[in-house]
This record gives sequence, C-alpha cells and structure tokens, in this order.
Amino acid sequence: MYTCGPTVYDYAHIGNYRAFLFEDLLKRWLEHRGFKVTHVMNLTDVDDKTIKGSQKQQIPLEKYTAHYTNAFFEDIKALNIKPADYYPKATGHIPEMIALVKTLIQKGYAYKAADNSIYYAIKKFKNYGKLSHIKIAELKTGARVKTDEYKKEEAQDFALWKAWTPEDGNVFWETELGKGRPGWHIECSAMSMKYLGETFDIHCGGVDNMFPHHENEIAQSEAATGKKFVNYWLHNEHLLVEGKKMAKKFGNFYTLRDLLGKGYDPIVIRFLLLSTHYRQQFNFTFEGLDATKGAIERLRNLMRRLQDADGKDSGGKVAELMLGVQAGFGEAMDDDLNISVALGALFDFAREVNALLDADAISRSEADEISALMRGFDGVLGVIGAVEMEEALPKEATELIKKREEARKARDWARADALRLRLREMGVVVEDTAQGVRWRLEKKG
Ligand code: AMP
Ligand code: ZN
Repeated sequence: MYTCGPTVYDYAHIGNYRAFLFEDLLKRWLEHRGFKVTHVMNLTDVDDKTIKGSQKQQIPLEKYTAHYTNAFFEDIKALNIKPADYYPKATGHIPEMIALVKTLIQKGYAYKAADNSIYYAIKKFKNYGKLSHIKIAELKTGARVKTDEYKKEEAQDFALWKAWTPEDGNVFWETELGKGRPGWHIECSAMSMKYLGETFDIHCGGVDNMFPHHENEIAQSEAATGKKFVNYWLHNEHLLVEGKKMAKKFGNFYTLRDLLGKGYDPIVIRFLLLSTHYRQQFNFTFEGLDATKGAIERLRNLMRRLQDADGKDSGGKVAELMLGVQAGFGEAMDDDLNISVALGALFDFAREVNALLDADAISRSEADEISALMRGFDGVLGVIGAVEMEEALPKEATELIKKREEARKARDWARADALRLRLREMGVVVEDTAQGVRWRLEKKG
C-alpha cells in the first residue's frame, strides 16, 4: 500500500490528517482481517512549495524540511496513526527518478524541450485520463506545464525533470539529465515501485491528488514498465470548513497544533475525522469535536464498568450480542469501510451491555469476553486506549471517598451518607463491598 505523504513545507492541517487517518483505518482494518500490509508513505521534501518556503525563511532546504518532517511525526504519534514501514524522502531517491526518466525517454514517452526540462508527452500514452475521466481529444497536446499542480482543463505535457532556473537557488542536482530537480509526480512513481514493485495493490490519497498527480503517476509507471501500476485506487473526500475545502491557500485551516493549543485531545480529533465515510465530504465544527468527546467517553465508561462487573450470568444473551456486533461491525467495514454503520452497531452493542450491567446480569467471565472484543475493535479504531480506573476519578472525588472512609471508621453514618450523596451528584457511585469500598462512574445519558 502506497499513500502519498505530506509535502513538508509547513505544519500539516487537519484536512491532511483526514487523509492520513482514513489510510490508517484502511490499514488497520486490512490487518484486522488477517492481511499482511506493507505500507509506504513518501515525504515530499523537494518541490515547488518546499523550495519557495525555504527561500522565504532563508534556510537550507534540508533544514527547512527536517523541521516540518519532525513535526509531522509528532503529529501522527499524537493521533495514534500506526507508522508506515517505509518513509522514503524524495531527495534520497534522485538516482531512481533519473533511471525512470531515462527509460521514458528511451521508450519515446519523454522529450527534452527548449527550456532544457524534460516533459512527458501525454498523447503517447493511450490510457492517459483513465483515472480522472478526461478525454485525450480534449487535451492541449504539445502544450507544456512546468508547475506541479494544475487543473484538469489544463492537462498537457508535464515536467519530469525541471531544468535549473535562478528561482531554484541552490536546489539542484547535476545529473545525466542536466542540472535540475525532479517534478513532483516522478517522485511517487519512482519511490512506490522501488519499495513495492512494478505492480502493487493499493494506492491512496485525497481526491485532489487524482488529477494531475495520480494520473501522471500511472502514465509514468505504466509507460516505463508496460505493466499495470496499481490494482486499487482509493481517494478520500475533503474535510471542509463552512462548506469549503480546508486548504492552506484559502486560509481556512487548523493545524493539529492549533487544536491541541486550544486544549483539544488528539484522540477526539482522530475519532471525529474517522467517523465519516472517507468518500463523503465532511464539515469540520467544534460542536462535532465536543460530541465526539462524549462518544469516546461512552466507550471508555463501558470498559470501566466491565472491569468491575461480577453479576449473574446473562444466560446466553451476551454471546448473542457479541455475535451480532461482530457481524454488524465486520460486514460494514468490509463494505468499503462503511464506518458509520460499523459505529452504529458498536454503540448499539454498548447500550445493550450497559442495560445488562444495570440489571447486574453479566458474569465476570462474560465481562472479560466483552472487554476482549472491545479491545479488538479498538485495534481498528484506536480511540479507547488504556482505561485506568483511577485516571477517570476526579481528584475532588478521591478526597471525598477518603473522607467518607474516615467517617465510616468513626461510625459517623450521617456524615458518610452525606458524602456518598455528594459523590453521587458528581456522578460517582460508591458501594461498600466485602472487599472494601468500590466505586464506578454513573452511566451518562
Ligand atoms: P499535501 O501535503 O498537500 O501533499 O497533502 C497531503 C494529503 O492530504 C494528500 O493526500 C491530499 O490529497 C490530502 N488533503 C489535502 N487537503 C485535504 C482536505 N481538506 N481534506 C482531506 N484531505 C486533504
Ligand atoms: Zn504522491
């Protein structure tokens, strides 16, 4: 699986992370189903944007991109995104790109233009436009574009190798193709095939990558090898803000850092961005974040209650519910990662289990089975994490429980009851058992 990684010219915004989280969900689901996944994510550390950024800050390209690369790794760790197996950098794979461009020249798909740059002749590749559904007849063949990004309507011969110009400053490589640097598209063809072979299974990216980036990757790779490049393309839809794509160029973006600075939990952000089907556009709001926080708490509270459950056996009811949620969650995820339906099944299950817990109708061993099942789902969702009983108890409540213990020891029952009531008001249920005092958080809503 190859997923187009970040262009390390700035802090990634949460729209970018929607893409990386969808890919994380896909990978985790495949692994859950028993597939062995080899995941490659490139780091675009030389392109139009990184060069411009480093010049603006007047620092070497390498130093400039290293800063944003580190930030990216910090962010994905906070978001509980599983690391890829390989993170190839474009600047570390120039020889592979040169070799690929040379093959394309030999096979007649690429040519050097008057500006000394090397371009891909799109009319030579009969399947050009297959992925993004544009027709070659509508293309301006022979016209050339040197920038990395352009619109479908402007499809034309694109740069594989960009001859050095003064704007590039000291960013260049002296190669057989002349002094210059690679285009963005050739980077991904060269690096994906190096690590995954000439044909591989899955390639992902945001919908904005479909054209020209992925269309050009197909043209480059398939022309060079004569083989099918990718078996399955998956593209995530955009994260929007007030109906508009979240993007640096529109200024309507939040970086992960922005949100963490406002006190938001990265796991809540993870769950919010995962909860909508990847092929649906999704509007980011702070209300959405707040609601998601409640949803995660519902799952964590259930885990806490299960730790404490010690009731009578459900008489088969638990086994039945477990089979139901496994089927409901599994079939939905198998159906093109239908996460909304899968989560619906999970929250229905949580509600039913809570009802059984209320009735004290879950035995210790049943509770363990449910916990293990929930852990399995969380291997895919990555939001529950370690649930410590103590962690959940507000400090104030710990104090009150201690005071209540003291009151009980002093046989001051009135005071002990008053303290129990205060705890109850805070949502903490205290029970005196043979093993001592136990507490649990009251089920909310
Ligand atoms: P970039 O760093 O610009 O190359 O983008 C990294 C990834 O984020 C690519 O797969 C983009 O398609 C994706 N992306 C960019 N903006 C958004 C957005 N608003 N919503 C979802 N994905 C996005
Ligand atoms: Zn790419």
